[in-house]
Parts: sequence; C-alpha cells; structure tokens
Amino acid sequence: MKFLVTGAAGFIGYHVCDRLLKAGHQVVGIDNLNDYYDVSLKQARLDLLSSPDFTFHKIDLADRVAMPALFAEEKFDRVIHLAAQAGVRYSLENPHVYADANLIGHLNVLEGCRHNKVQHLLYASSSSVYGLNRKMPFSTDDPVDHPVSLYAATKKANELMAHTYSHLYNLPTTGLRFFTVYGPWGRPDMALFKFTKAMLEGKSIDVYNYGKMKRDFTYVDDIVEAIIRMQDVIPQPNPEWTVETGSPATSSAPYHVYNIGNSAPVELMDYITALEEALGIEAKKNMMPLQAGDVLETSADTKPLFEVCGFKPQTSVKDGVKNFVDWYRGYYNK
Ligand code: NAD
Repeated sequence: MKFLVTGAAGFIGYHVCDRLLKAGHQVVGIDNLNDYYDVSLKQARLDLLSSPDFTFHKIDLADRVAMPALFAEEKFDRVIHLAAQAGVRYSLENPHVYADANLIGHLNVLEGCRHNKVQHLLYASSSSVYGLNRKMPFSTDDPVDHPVSLYAATKKANELMAHTYSHLYNLPTTGLRFFTVYGPWGRPDMALFKFTKAMLEGKSIDVYNYGKMKRDFTYVDDIVEAIIRMQDVIPQPNPEWTVETGSPATSSAPYHVYNIGNSAPVELMDYITALEEALGIEAKKNMMPLQAGDVLETSADTKPLFEVCGFKPQTSVKDGVKNFVDWYRGYYNK
C-alpha cells in the first residue's frame, strides 16, 4: 500500500514511517522542516528512514500549488496526517503559524484526498480540545466547545473540517486525540526532554502545581500501534454511501474521532521520580504554582478505540521513561 505521512520528520511521524516501512509499505513523507525546534533532530530522524520504499519531499502543507501537485502525481492509497504546528504556549505569540499549518494545511490535505480518491484519512487531533475542568475520564461523547488555546481551537476545527469532507465527499476520516505523547526521539519543547537536559546539566527544573497535576502520558509505540491497527479496520468504499446535498444523507462515509491515551493518569511528581530513577540523578526542583491555562488532570476514555481495533496501551511510564533516557544518552552522547 502507498501511504502519505505528513510531518514525517516529526516525533510521531518518524515513528509511524518507520513502522510502515518495516511492514513493507511504500511511504512518501512530507515536512517543511521548520525551526520550531532543532532542525538537526528532524534531519537525523529522516536519515534513519532511508529506504528504497521511502521518498521525502520538503513541502509546506499550506502551499496551494505543491500540495495538489503532490497528490496528483503520487496517487496515495491512504493518508496519515501528523504535520501541524504543535504546542500551546507558542500559539500565544505566533497565531498565524497555526492558521497556516493547522487550518490551511489541513484543508489542503482534505482537498488532496477528495480529488484523488484516497481510501482513508487518519489525522492527529489532541486532548487539548477538552479544555479546562472536565469530568474524568475525557470522553469523545463530551461536548468540546471551549478551547483554551488557539492550538486547541485549530485541532477542534480539524475534526469539524474532516466531518464535512466525510459527508460531503464520501471521504472516510478518523481523528485521534493524542494525550501527551513521549518516548525516544521525543520533542525538545516537551517536559520529559527539558527535564532530562536540565538534570544532566545540573540545572533545576520548574515543577508546576507542586507536581500535583496528572497527565495521561502515552508512550509513542502505543500511539503508533493504534494508528497501524486502525488501518486494518478501515471501511471499503461503499456504493451506497450517498453524498449529502439538501436533505440529510441516509448513508455517508464514516467519520470517527477517538481518544488515544494510556488510560492511567500519572502525577507529574511520579513522572519525575521515574526520570530520576532512569537517570540516577535527583532533580533540583523549583516548586511552582499552577500556570494559567494548565489543566489539573487529563485522562482518556479509550474504550471506544479498544472496541473498534482491540487497542490497549502496553507501556508503563517507568519503562517508557527509561527507554527515552536510553535514547537521549545515546543520541547526545551523555
Ligand atoms: P512534531 O512537531 O515533532 O512533528 C510535526 C512535524 O510537522 C514537524 O516535523 C514539523 O516540521 C512539521 N510541520 C509543521 N508545520 C508544517 C507545515 N506547515 N508544513 C509541513 N510540515 C510541517 O510534533 P509531534 O509531537 O510529532 O506531533 C504530531 C501530531 O500530533 C501533531 O499534529 C500534533 O499536534 C499532534 N499531537 C501531539 C501530541 C504530543 O504529545 N506529541 C499531543 C497531541 C497531539
């Protein structure tokens, strides 16, 4: 099968490409290699993907000429769309980057799928769509109409746009709301990377809400496993799908959104303890109050995902953090 993976040089995109290539698929990866974080880390991930079955194009998702040309030329069977401008805090200072990558870019992916008979689009959404003060665990049945950042708003918009393309153009789509993903080749702007770097340099780390907030930390291999399993339950195109016109469609292409988390929220302080054990270093901690806009807890209800593809997260935080540390020490020679 021929896949397009957007964000192929990114943390999750790299792991997905690697897994698809190992399974014998043809993979075309795209990324704009922006400098939101260290570009050499992105390049190093791409270097590892080198294979006759892997082709890389440096393309910006928002490019309204290059994107349609790529889709028309390559004729993908399926698309896994992971490129986006991530990060909540960065969106406060750089709103237009989010509009270009996450809105125009997402639209260009949808249009490419629509015009080139792509069988299925899987795209990354985020737990950030749930906003503040929710009941636990977060369920995809809960209304999400109060995004607390522009990033979250663009991810919710992605879901709405995908929904439209499913029922208007019979494009089957699946959105996965990722919950705090970590693991080897992880992002330098995320806590685990920042804490590891600081601790190895003998610097102190900022521990917000005195370490009491909880996150449903999800190991990257578990995320990849869910993405791969979803490929096996993708519906075959059905001649009875009808395009919605004036009256509601009786049957249109499936549109789904699922949570993908660990279903086991962990206190930040326990995450740090796992890191201290893996590094053999006690962290110097600056205990800080909760930051404005931060949620106290995230927790994914993953039952619907289990029901559709049998997915269950496999990796404990202790093992996952150790794997990250082993990678970090090897990559940075520390
Ligand atoms: P990442 O930043 O490592 O990867 C995203 C990649 O997309 C980067 O390599 C970047 O260069 C590329 N990109 C960004 N804008 C682009 C554009 N305009 N054109 C082409 N390429 C562009 O992030 P990640 O952690 O791998 O995240 C992958 C997806 O998962 C994103 O959609 C993100 O919003 C979502 N997500 C991640 C997490 C997490 O905890 N890592 C949580 C929730 C959702």
